[in-house]
Amino acid sequence: MNKTFFWLMVLAVLLLPKNVRAYKFTTDFNNGFYFQSFPVGMQIFADSDSKGQLLAQLVSQAVSQWEDVIGRNIWDIPNSYVVGGHFGNNIRWASNFAAETGFDPGSTLAVTTRRTSGTYIGQVEVVLNAEFPGMTSNSGQVLYRTILHELGHVIMLDHSEVSQVVMASSLTSATSPRSDDVLGANAVVDEALHRQSIGFTSELASSEEKSSSPIACGSVDISGSGGEGGGPFNIILSLMLGIIATIFSNRKKQKHFI
Ligand SMILES: [Zn+2]
Repeated sequence: MNKTFFWLMVLAVLLLPKNVRAYKFTTDFNNGFYFQSFPVGMQIFADSDSKGQLLAQLVSQAVSQWEDVIGRNIWDIPNSYVVGGHFGNNIRWASNFAAETGFDPGSTLAVTTRRTSGTYIGQVEVVLNAEFPGMTSNSGQVLYRTILHELGHVIMLDHSEVSQVVMASSLTSATSPRSDDVLGANAVVDEALHRQSIGFTSELASSEEKSSSPIACGSVDISGSGGEGGGPFNIILSLMLGIIATIFSNRKKQKHFI
């Protein structure tokens, strides 16, 4: 057995069980930004009554499901909608998703963006892709599952490394938070409450460029790619796996040429 490969495997076995965490916080949350208070007030906007009614109803259901497992009031989103325009913290449809978000409308169902203001989140927006088949009609609960996922991003959960959970980077069949989602949501809320209670200020709060580059997450990419970067350990792990993959692919190539 290749010596380097052997020691990389030993290192991986030693590190994996302790350090790989399933749920993840978003980069801005890890950088010290957070909501000044809970619940987070949001408003639903739509360009037609039919889209607005369905959206308002599904958002209410999704909020209830999350709050049941978190046991706290995290979102304040009225079961109503406004036709036309948008402002403040909002959940809305985009009929021209690419133009509005810059994401591929063929593979991205929604985007959640947060803008910071000082150490706090100044604005959060969930933009839903109205062009994607089944979204506006909630066919196969695609809209509902997307909303559940985006609400996780709103409270600053990133994509989980666990598959088949609400916060996986690809749309899954999960129609309610799974245990990893529950652990993640409670952890992020607990940490936010802690920061609120001590008046924590991010070291980056004074240096960031206000609102010029919203932190976006192209969510529920059905192709299975996407997701934001993790911490240093994830980078190391990625490097290690990359090296292992290279060793394997080189071996394959060698075999092939022989
Ligand atoms: Zn996402």
